Amino acid sequence: MNDKYSLDSLLLAAIKFASDKHVSQRRKGCENIPYINHVIKVAYILQETGKETNPQVLAAAVLHDVIEDTNTTEEELSGLFGNLVASLVKEVTDDMTLTYDDRKRFQIKKAPFLTNDAKKIKIADKIANIHDILNCPLSWSNRRKRMYVDWSEKVIEGCRGVNQLLDKSFDEIVLKAKDILIEED
Ligand code: ZN
Repeated sequence: MNDKYSLDSLLLAAIKFASDKHVSQRRKGCENIPYINHVIKVAYILQETGKETNPQVLAAAVLHDVIEDTNTTEEELSGLFGNLVASLVKEVTDDMTLTYDDRKRFQIKKAPFLTNDAKKIKIADKIANIHDILNCPLSWSNRRKRMYVDWSEKVIEGCRGVNQLLDKSFDEIVLKAKDILIEED
């Protein structure tokens, strides 16, 4: 099923691969946080909150930004981690030939048509991002932060119903965000 790694070694191999690919990248707006922290956090939320146990889905969560943000191709991923991992990563990858606004709109349109595993990765990704928005020093205004939260809600609307634990955790962090980001600036 996987061309190079056994299921037992898949997750750590994915972490090693992602750490090499994202080595020089830092989180947007949170300049001191290495990018790898984000993708590990997404996989961790999937496992701890979503109770996901499939190593292929967890590996795909670790790898979810390598096609979008590094020179990695889908073929490279399928050769190393198998077709399922590669196709999941591809599903949650934005088309970088589109403009920023079109990519945002397209995520909302595309969400209902994702596979269940890709929907779970999407929800964990948005939970992690909103958590960072609320907790890491960020140069964004409250208005911009709220716009991100509102847009995330529209994307996740199309991902609901495949994992109630993730749905609930997403709703909780959105409520918290709306509470914290209430004041104008
Ligand atoms: Zn992400």
